[in-house]
Amino acid sequence: MGVVNKSLPPKSKRKTMNCYKCKTPNPDNWFYCRECGGKASQPAFTTNLYMGTEAGKRTDVEFSSTTIEEHTKQIISNKQDKSDKFWADKVKQAGVR
Ligand SMILES: [Zn+2]
Repeated sequence: MGVVNKSLPPKSKRKTMNCYKCKTPNPDNWFYCRECGGKASQPAFTTNLYMGTEAGKRTDVEFSSTTIEEHTKQIISNKQDKSDKFWADKVKQAGVR
């Protein structure tokens, strides 16, 4: 092991966060804002992005990701089929005997 994830700065070097809802300074890094009572910080930027979507309001994350995976497989297999047909037609047009 011994691999350091350099994308995440050490906590000590992070700036003090303000509440992302009401911008009240949160020097003690309270999990919940003492001003507005909401979560004072975002657990992860991507999570927040996801939560901003219609799908994010639902809780079936597992279901959604599985569906997307299946959907992607389907697209790939469709492309493969079309590609096979495309080349089959090309061969016909080329008049390969
Ligand atoms: Zn707040």
